[in-house]
Amino acid sequence: MLYDEKGHKCLECGDEIGYGRPDRKFCSLSCKNRYNNRKNQGSRQAKLKIMNALDRNHEILDSLLRMGLTEMNLADVKHLGFNVDYMTSCYRTRGHTEYCCFDIRYHVTPTRITSIFKMKGSINAETK
Ligand SMILES: [Zn+2]
Repeated sequence: MLYDEKGHKCLECGDEIGYGRPDRKFCSLSCKNRYNNRKNQGSRQAKLKIMNALDRNHEILDSLLRMGLTEMNLADVKHLGFNVDYMTSCYRTRGHTEYCCFDIRYHVTPTRITSIFKMKGSINAETK
């Protein structure tokens, strides 16, 4: 029997891998490419999803600032589509955590999003 004793199977198509090195994972190059493409596509889609969430968050914060608002009920911003799980950076100041969505800084309490502030270098920076 020429086949690998472990009954090695291709990760892509499930075909038995008859010969070759025992660490081979695919029956052919095209199976290998297909498998890797799909894997990369998955992480691309995951990144895209997060980018979209950040983009929407930024749009919401930006529109609040343009309306002259620096805080809002958390339930209301969530209703607008704001996703508190995603931010571009965060840091602790005096016992509480501030978050950034690109150039906009904000603070989240259990019920409100507050202290929305656009950092300098942007047009609406000095909104007060
Ligand atoms: Zn295969």
